[in-house]
Amino acid sequence: MCITLHNSQELFAPMRYSAFSVITQALRGHTGWTPAWRKAEPAPHYDVVIIGGGGGGLATAYYLARHHNVGRIAVLEKGWLGNGSIGRNTTIIRSNYGLPGNIPFYELSMKLWEGLEQDINYNAMVSQRGIFNIYHNDAQRDSYARRGNAMLLHGVDAELLDSARLRREIPYLDYENARFPIHGALVQRRAGTARHDAVAWGYARAADKLGVDIIENCEVTGIDIENGAVKGVQTTRGAITVGKVGIAVAGASSLVGAMAGLRLPIESHALQAFVTEGLKPLIDNVITFGAGHFYISQSDKGGLVFGGDIDGYNSYAARGNLPTVEDVCEGGIALMPMLGRARLLRSWGGIMDMTMDGSPIIDKTPVGNLFFNGGWCYGGFKATPASGFCFAHLIAREEPHAVAAAYRLDRFAEGRLIDEKGAGAQPNLH
Ligand SMILES: Cc1cc2nc3c(=O)[nH]c(=O)nc-3n(C[C@H](O)[C@H](O)[C@H](O)COP(=O)(O)OP(=O)(O)OC[C@H]3O[C@@H](n4cnc5c(N)ncnc54)[C@H](O)[C@@H]3O)c2cc1C
Repeated sequence: MCITLHNSQELFAPMRYSAFSVITQALRGHTGWTPAWRKAEPAPHYDVVIIGGGGGGLATAYYLARHHNVGRIAVLEKGWLGNGSIGRNTTIIRSNYGLPGNIPFYELSMKLWEGLEQDINYNAMVSQRGIFNIYHNDAQRDSYARRGNAMLLHGVDAELLDSARLRREIPYLDYENARFPIHGALVQRRAGTARHDAVAWGYARAADKLGVDIIENCEVTGIDIENGAVKGVQTTRGAITVGKVGIAVAGASSLVGAMAGLRLPIESHALQAFVTEGLKPLIDNVITFGAGHFYISQSDKGGLVFGGDIDGYNSYAARGNLPTVEDVCEGGIALMPMLGRARLLRSWGGIMDMTMDGSPIIDKTPVGNLFFNGGWCYGGFKATPASGFCFAHLIAREEPHAVAAAYRLDRFAEGRLIDEKGAGAQPNLH
């Protein structure tokens, strides 16, 4: 592997995190820790530029530098690392999908999560505490059984529990709810949570260590195209000429795509997240409601972390509205009435790039040397490792990775949708 080091990097020796370094630093009064990544300045040219320093962009840069010999790489981020959805999500990771286009991709992601902390030498607090998708009637049980069987056929773990077994594992749910009685759950025990912003920091640090320039406060304002191929980007910190460009800007996909004349099958919607006051350990897994959209887990600090539906109208405002707050809380209380006594401490919003079938896009664009990664809808956090891994493969080799081959841009024109959610071409129904 050939990695060009820059002057600023030669001065900067990223330290290895270990029990030994924690003990040594403790003895030195914690005065010796070095910054996790350099504050790189933009160079006039890069072989590969990734637009967007969220989870997808940083993971792409890391896997490009780690596995592909593509020369000099930069990540251009308009704000600070973690300002986008990577630092705003409800931290759920899982691979309990049901369609052939999705299962192998999300399972690759789960396998990468399982080795991630060792791989990038960073504590991302990956916790495989299991996800329980609750079902409330016979038809839903049958559909969950189908999904579980599809998972098992792809080598993914899945279990279908009836209400008696579920009661033994999670006794505090409202099993006798008159409207939404609980009949059981589809369980993936390897699913769980990871600390969202630590994932961005860990990938940034690991990419930086391999020579990637991570340039914060550097907004891309234009994409230069000559003879049908990308030649450079205009940024708030000057023009940069490029060999290849990868767009990984999640909630800003349509805006950045438009800079290259792309009209994407994507709408932008706000999604909110909520955290209660810190409570004693209560919920030791991830639970989703089957009669509405509600999902919950408990953070290591004790806050109950939960969310529900997108706000349902197009917006770039990273804040939500009260009707959705009410809807999310109703779902939560129908599932576990005790939630009504917890005080809500914080809530925030993030922008989701919703595709017309609920599945992502990782593909070349009609513009030469311009590649697109986006349309992550509700699910891009769990996808972070595979999203970066497969996008790096696509950029370097100019052909899709086998597990991401279905995520083509032209599937919308050709009718090959991967409609996992079953809501069709209506993001506001997702
Ligand atoms: C409230 C909420 C809860 C969620 N819960 C989950 C969950 O539990 N599990 C799950 O799997 N997914 C979840 N998601 C979805 C997931 O967080 C996103 O799909 C995923 O983070 C998007 O990919 P990213 O990390 O690369 O995006 P981002 O972190 O949004 O990164 C994109 C980056 O691009 C930058 N950018 C934009 N425009 C430009 C420009 N012109 N120039 C330079 N940089 C630019 C932005 O500043 C941003 O940092 C949730 C999302 C939200 C909002």
